[in-house]
Amino acid sequence: MKVIDCTLREGNQSPNVIWGNRESYHISQGLVDYGVDCIEVGHPYASKLDRENVGIVTAANPNMSILAHARAVESDITAVKESGANWVGIFMATNKIARSFKFRNKSTDDILDQIEASIRYAKLLQLQVRFTLEDTSRTDLDLQIKAYERALRAGADRICYSDTVGILQPYQAASALAKLRNFFPTSSIEVHFHNDRGLALANALAVENYADWVSTSVNGIGERCGITDTIAYMSNLSFNERGTVSSEEIAKSRSLSQIVHAFGRNSVIDRAPIVGEFAFTHCSKLHRSAYKKSNRAYCWLPDFEGQAGHENVPLDLGELVKTDVEIEPGIENHLTTDSYYSIGQTCTVTQIKPSANDMHPFSDLKSLNCDSLFLLFGCEDGKSGLNAAVFLNGERFELQSPASLFVPSGVEYCFESFSGAGLVINHVLNAKKTRSLMNLRKPHIDFDTQPLSALVEQG
Ligand SMILES: [Zn+2]
Repeated sequence: MKVIDCTLREGNQSPNVIWGNRESYHISQGLVDYGVDCIEVGHPYASKLDRENVGIVTAANPNMSILAHARAVESDITAVKESGANWVGIFMATNKIARSFKFRNKSTDDILDQIEASIRYAKLLQLQVRFTLEDTSRTDLDLQIKAYERALRAGADRICYSDTVGILQPYQAASALAKLRNFFPTSSIEVHFHNDRGLALANALAVENYADWVSTSVNGIGERCGITDTIAYMSNLSFNERGTVSSEEIAKSRSLSQIVHAFGRNSVIDRAPIVGEFAFTHCSKLHRSAYKKSNRAYCWLPDFEGQAGHENVPLDLGELVKTDVEIEPGIENHLTTDSYYSIGQTCTVTQIKPSANDMHPFSDLKSLNCDSLFLLFGCEDGKSGLNAAVFLNGERFELQSPASLFVPSGVEYCFESFSGAGLVINHVLNAKKTRSLMNLRKPHIDFDTQPLSALVEQG
């Protein structure tokens, strides 16, 4: 099975997520490194940002298949061609539901004609074409076959079965794809399963005898409950094939998951397989002592080193109160400790003195995988008297105390300078600040100096 990852298209339809150029670049690099076979990026006709993102991803990965979305209309397909993608994903629904609310003036034949014409147009533009019959799982079989036949006749290179509302169970998915394979024994078939019933991964695994491609996204992000998770799916394939998933693969999985989670501000649950904080942490006394003798005792992967968790202890409220906090100037003084009770956040206070404004711990350019809040209080009346200059994703801002600065996860920041005197309080939503640092490679594309239009033309 081949994997087309659509984190940069389907993921963009998840709450909070808007991929910019920088995010698209880093995520595409992570995906190539992880070994996906094709990357799906945005809908170029829909926005300038989507067009730019396709251009960036195409320019950064010239040997990769890059697919962009289009409705079955010439304007959308032209925009895909102009964005630089080599594949277009054309989608259209034909079922009763779509005909009653989306295409009131169109007959089934009109829709089939439109599918065929749009694919012929895309082929004229020398694009590779994937045709998705939207909401396939709620479309009658004879209509499915008619639509796919017309698409293939017009030159579609791949057809895609979409469980758009996540209605299928694994045995139904297998049966639906077996029928389709029977009608189209030699065509390339892709599947796209939504996770509304929590079955997107199970459905993707259930159809491996009938489909060639699976559409996935990192952390499963997408509309509503998302789709099949790239990492969970590919790890399952590895395990089924080789009986294990290597430590290197797990390290790559975690780094890719973290990038998407941080840039999308779209959380990964602690219990998530492979990438979750608790995925390989052994907690109960019995499990911890067995793990110390052999990491195989309670781990599904034969070669993977897990970790023994803390012993869970009852909450002692007195331990949470700290008085006489020592504040040494120029360094970050911790107000919280993770040693006794896992609090999942870090709070530090730093004293800025007028004589040593250039000696402060916030001058390194960095991105965190979690949100971070800064509060600046000066020593003068009304907490004024402390000023700072800060860079956020390359843009410079000035702060005058009393001031606050919220740095969303994934945003690159540093404090250029301070003037005056006062306190900087920094609250980070991760238990260990060092663990929240994102390790991103320096882009080989300079987003500031290389005009985006040039990238788009290159593609
Ligand atoms: Zn979808």
